[in-house]
Amino acid sequence: LTAASVLADVLRCPACGGELAASGGALTCSGCGAEYAVRDGAVWLAAGEEFHDERGGLATRALHRVVANPRVYDAVQRTVGTPETARRIRGHLAGASGKLVLDVGAGTGRLRPTLPEGATYLWLDADPAKLHGFRAKWPGEPAVVSDAAELPFRDASVDYALCVALAHHLADDELARLVDELARVVRERVILMEPLRVDALVPRALWRYDRGAHPRAEEELVTALGRGFEVETRERYAKLHRYLLVTARPR
Ligand SMILES: [Zn+2]
Repeated sequence: LTAASVLADVLRCPACGGELAASGGALTCSGCGAEYAVRDGAVWLAAGEEFHDERGGLATRALHRVVANPRVYDAVQRTVGTPETARRIRGHLAGASGKLVLDVGAGTGRLRPTLPEGATYLWLDADPAKLHGFRAKWPGEPAVVSDAAELPFRDASVDYALCVALAHHLADDELARLVDELARVVRERVILMEPLRVDALVPRALWRYDRGAHPRAEEELVTALGRGFEVETRERYAKLHRYLLVTARPR
């Protein structure tokens, strides 16, 4: 499957929900006429304004960016690619060969290696700098620059969604919107991993370095998912933080 054919199958206009058709170097909505650029091998669907980034390139700044781009070093994000997390997620994706796996808040694509052979990876993040890092390792994979709270995909268009170390960047209403959107878009299963809010000394200290964080307890996360999903499995494990890994099916 080529990136273009994958994207043509799953995307819809984030503004009106209309169909998108390729025209020149852009996608044009048949409903509202909005045009979305295809640049750096990715579709730019973030409703945003264009600006010149640090390297002098033209980028898009989302007007309503929900997924924060922490300037402070994110101690939580660093653990996304640890062997323990990768091993656990790989186990839950063992049956995903031939399936489409959406990574929401994908960063530089550190979860890409957890997919089995034959699965298709779909990268989504609001941060253009992360796309640059992803492209350096994985050229040619389908990628969408978009806000996570308004997934620009058709109903029931992806098989699996990964939502790893993302929820703590979202306030309660933003997390609720994300769960609603995942329930609309995902056919089979969502795999959510989050560091838990606990009262132990070390994790509390770590959270202080993660600016804008919304750490939650296990039951708060399970309740938030319950808006649209039936929880199937729960695992807890510990490194510096304590983590919760949940798999859930759409209701
Ligand atoms: Zn439209």
